[in-house]
Amino acid sequence: MLNMQIELVKQLFRRTFTNRFPSKRIPKSVSGFLRSVERGERKMNPPVPVPPGFRGRINYDKKKCIGCRLCVKVCPADAVVFLEKEKKIRYHLFRCTFCGQCVDVCPTKALQTTNEFLLADYEKD
Ligand code: SF4
Ligand code: SF4
Repeated sequence: MLNMQIELVKQLFRRTFTNRFPSKRIPKSVSGFLRSVERGERKMNPPVPVPPGFRGRINYDKKKCIGCRLCVKVCPADAVVFLEKEKKIRYHLFRCTFCGQCVDVCPTKALQTTNEFLLADYEKD
């Protein structure tokens, strides 16, 4: 118990390692925080680097897609829907579990993982 209290007191005098979430992607309407960082009035820690092979938001390049449907077949979350008329797909971020199976199976590299992990938004899609 004493060790914990000592540790708590030490933490009070250490520098902050975290940013207020999501300061990096704060909406324009409340961008005063970022402007104050630019002016040097407030400090923001650099974003945490992601490790190699990190599976963030999936990026879909429509031009590269040949409509083979392999991604639709392997997706365990029904996050990929085939558009019959266009012979293309629609990727639903809000359903995605970031397993990366669609990326592995896509023959044209139309689907790629990105490093983006701050995905909270007001819009479902
Ligand atoms: S990463 Fe996984 S869950 Fe997300 S769209 Fe691809 S296959 Fe589906
Ligand atoms: S696997 Fe790739 S090429 Fe095939 S439908 Fe999906 S995105 Fe298009």
